[in-house]
Amino acid sequence: FGIKQVSTGDLLRKEILEGTPLGKKVAPILASGKLVDNKIVAQVLEKGIGSAKNGFVLDGFPRNSEQAQILEKILAKTKQKIGLVLELVVPDEKIVERLSSRRQCSKCGKVYGLHLPSRVEGVCDDCGGKLFQRDDDKPAVIKKRLELYRNETLPLKAYFRKTTRVESIDGSLAIDSVFRAAEKKIFAKGK
Ligand code: AMP
Repeated sequence: FGIKQVSTGDLLRKEILEGTPLGKKVAPILASGKLVDNKIVAQVLEKGIGSAKNGFVLDGFPRNSEQAQILEKILAKTKQKIGLVLELVVPDEKIVERLSSRRQCSKCGKVYGLHLPSRVEGVCDDCGGKLFQRDDDKPAVIKKRLELYRNETLPLKAYFRKTTRVESIDGSLAIDSVFRAAEKKIFAKGK
């Protein structure tokens, strides 16, 4: 739909791949599954939002209440508003199954997994690059990330409900069905 996807995780991984000072600082934090300092994330986020002309989809932000307040400040500055908060509901077992099988190309960034296995194990179909597993996609780290989600991120649902349309969809279905459900919510008339 031509709407920019602003994913703080992707933006941080880009800094790591490029070996910037910020990337070097956050690499061990991402590997452990812990959250990166709010001020650092705000910095990469502002850069991402700043270049979005046709609105944006925030992915992976905000993850705690301080970040929600940071977001409010950025939006007040840029005179923008959040139109919809979309929750994708997936049982923990399914999340562990999906993340443990996720592999990414070290050259072009393409993501493989249960939905799309590579033709040859460990090799990218498109560019022949070597596939790797994200450190934070190992079972022990996934558990830590789910715990953080429950304690710090999930409470934001109630926070956003006060001011914003919040909708939930079943994220455990196949990609096509999740896409159609998301599309319906995005283009439904808001409250
Ligand atoms: P993701 O790709 O969204 O799963 O994020 C991967 C990792 O990047 C997280 O486990 C955190 O270490 C870091 N990260 C991404 N987004 C944020 C955020 N909003 N706040 C703090 N850390 C983040």
